[in-house]
Amino acid sequence: MIYTFVGALDEGDTFGSIRGNGKTASMTYYALAFYNAGYTILSNYKTLFSEYLNSKEIRKKIFEEDLHYIVICIDELQLLLNSLGEKKTLIIDFVHELLAQTRKRDVESFCTSQRYFDLHKRFRSQNDICLRPYKFHTIDEDIVIELISNEEDFIPYLCLKDRCPYEHTIAIFQLINPSMNLLNRGRQILFTEEESSNYFPEDIKISPIFRAKEIGKLYNQFQIIKKEEV
Ligand SMILES: [Zn+2]
Repeated sequence: MIYTFVGALDEGDTFGSIRGNGKTASMTYYALAFYNAGYTILSNYKTLFSEYLNSKEIRKKIFEEDLHYIVICIDELQLLLNSLGEKKTLIIDFVHELLAQTRKRDVESFCTSQRYFDLHKRFRSQNDICLRPYKFHTIDEDIVIELISNEEDFIPYLCLKDRCPYEHTIAIFQLINPSMNLLNRGRQILFTEEESSNYFPEDIKISPIFRAKEIGKLYNQFQIIKKEEV
């Protein structure tokens, strides 16, 4: 399956922050759960548990190898798609190969993008699940659960800063049919732990709420994916 973690839907979507909302942390958190279940993690950013590959090497893997028990993590996917150039066939080929790999039961792809609609429509049409993290100013998960049970009330507790000295809890929402429901910005529901078995292999159950600091220790948050690395 293909999962995309986003900051916002499009430019008109100003609810929350597009940078520093916990996209990469959430992807890393999910990847860690798969790593603990025995998967190999390939990523285009450095973590303490994954095999680092630049985007070119990731493309090569996707095109040339028959992958099994693998999670492919691509931070800032739009940079990789853009690097394929104007030629539509290259993007179509890439999405086709990624899809072929991730249709296997034991291969998953996690991607991030600041805005969902910055991603090429060929990719969006094949994306299975769109996830949107929110960063809260508390380290008490119970408070977050209480806040999000009343959607109106949690807004003042959100952290909208890219870099912020306080500690945070991140809660992951799922955007339901982001393409279909553009007018109401896509319906969002908290991605519950019970539901995680609908989306992930049975042995991988993941809570949608986690402490940002603990996951932040596992990867290089200040590594910038440069154009030439793509
Ligand atoms: Zn903050």
